Amino acid sequence: MDQVVQGLPLWIRPAVPGKTSPPDQARALARGGEVTAHDPVMPRWHCSGCQRPWPCPIRRQELRAEYDQAPLSLALYLASRLVSATQDMASASPTALHRRFLGWLR
Ligand SMILES: [Zn+2]
Repeated sequence: MDQVVQGLPLWIRPAVPGKTSPPDQARALARGGEVTAHDPVMPRWHCSGCQRPWPCPIRRQELRAEYDQAPLSLALYLASRLVSATQDMASASPTALHRRFLGWLR
């Protein structure tokens, strides 16, 4: 199975619990290989770097810098992460998840 998965592009590889998501891996490569230490770890959506709920304060700061000229793209990215997190954490409050993923953008 690993051989098959290794041959797939990053964005269509299945998510591996405890690892960062394929879209986040692809985003890291798109950043020229720059890797953040503060990626989400599924399915609990805590930060791989500081263990705080993702996006942690450091990752929020990094995202603001990365998307400095593209705030709508940042909102769309975070909305996609919110959808995934809502599926992974079905018992979590939708209001709290919305505040956590998108509420800090204002
Ligand atoms: Zn962190």
